[in-house]
Amino acid sequence: MDQTKYLLSESDMPRQWYNIVADLPVPPAPVLHPGTGQPIGPADLAPLFPMALILQEVSSDRYIPIPEEVLAIYRLWRPTPLFRAHALERALETPAKIFYKYEGVSPAGSHKPNTAVAQVYYNKQEGVKRIATETGAGQWGSALAFACSLFGLEAKIYMVKASYYQKPYRRSLMEVWGGSVTPSPSTETNAGRSVLAQDPDSPGSLGIAISEAVEDAASREDTKYSLGSVLNHVLMHQTIIGEEALKQLEMADAYPDVVIGCAGGGSNFAGIAFPFVREKLTAGKPTRIIAVEPAAAPSLTRGTYAYDFGDTVGMTPLVKMHTLGHQFVPDPIHAGGLRYHGMAPLVSLLYEQGIIEARAYTQNPCFAAAVQFARTEGIVPAPESSHAIRAAIDEALAAKEAGERRTILFNLSGHGHFDLAAYDAYLGGKLEDFDYPPERVAAALAGLPKV
Ligand SMILES: *Cc1c(COP(=O)(O)O)cnc(C)c1O
Repeated sequence: MDQTKYLLSESDMPRQWYNIVADLPVPPAPVLHPGTGQPIGPADLAPLFPMALILQEVSSDRYIPIPEEVLAIYRLWRPTPLFRAHALERALETPAKIFYKYEGVSPAGSHKPNTAVAQVYYNKQEGVKRIATETGAGQWGSALAFACSLFGLEAKIYMVKASYYQKPYRRSLMEVWGGSVTPSPSTETNAGRSVLAQDPDSPGSLGIAISEAVEDAASREDTKYSLGSVLNHVLMHQTIIGEEALKQLEMADAYPDVVIGCAGGGSNFAGIAFPFVREKLTAGKPTRIIAVEPAAAPSLTRGTYAYDFGDTVGMTPLVKMHTLGHQFVPDPIHAGGLRYHGMAPLVSLLYEQGIIEARAYTQNPCFAAAVQFARTEGIVPAPESSHAIRAAIDEALAAKEAGERRTILFNLSGHGHFDLAAYDAYLGGKLEDFDYPPERVAAALAGLPKV
């Protein structure tokens, strides 16, 4: 039988991130100032981000070297393994080959430390002492708290209130790493107070928590802001996933016909996919590349491609992306990391250009896939990652139907050890399927900023 696990040696770990901007068929749309509607420059972002990250955000260099200090920390868990899912293939009786890259081996249990470590490093280089951020289900907050603890910075985390109470162990994890966690909306910021004035029982949303963290960072000299997805530099830091996978597939003497990632803000999808998009754009590889989102927050498949704010209150710059409207508050699905109103501008652009595909699933079929995966391959996936597994299984079943030898690669973005309440709900038959109601499409359109 073929090998199951493909490990790279540390010396073969990629030493640069890939910037897809260098290879895009059309340049990305400019980022606009929220007040004036005019394109912004690096100086406009300086209150929020260290200059090194701003320059990465606007860079069109194809490769950016990974600093030695960042590589040293990556080596705690990287290179991550690539697996061939033999047992799942057998269970599906498919002629397809299924490979998955596993990012759950990081200390925080997901891909997010790939960018958290890089971001905290550049902040520290520029003398920043404290970083403010938001977190939905807690994965990003824990990744940032982890990275801040290693570099000796303070982490201030605004956590969506509903998750703060539903996922107490994620909060514990952030606190173990020394992070300070505040339920959002809070009374600590103008943004939080204004939301609470309108709705004292607001469960919060990622957009509201972003408003609070941005305001915190903008109003303090010692503090910068950090975002765990969506922005160009964040997507770029994740490309080490796909660069490793390319080398590992070569060890397996394979190349994917289909590459799949789940997509909330788009960072782990970009991480696995962008190096394969490069091969598609520059070497003519015919790979299909699929972003998978939840039917309850379907920004790519049902959203509008337009300028919108990244947060709820309207403090962030305007970016052109697929959006459900910045005031969108999604239904309470368990894949908390996929409940964002927008999609990364670079992922949105690729979708608009027809270079990538997208599809959406409700949560019950995703959990069914996750459980089948756990019972064959052994790993209990994060609810977010289960969307990628659903799509991979469906692709493998379609290959079987067509009698086709398809090679499928997906990213297993994290483990689900903190999400067992969601598995309980699924196994108990208590999980609701939410579809995005059509009237909300119109409401979202009406609320878009005019530029
Ligand atoms: C945060 C998270 C996601 C979604 O975020 P992206 O930026 O779209 O990758 C997916 N999977 C896991 C495990 C996460 O923690």
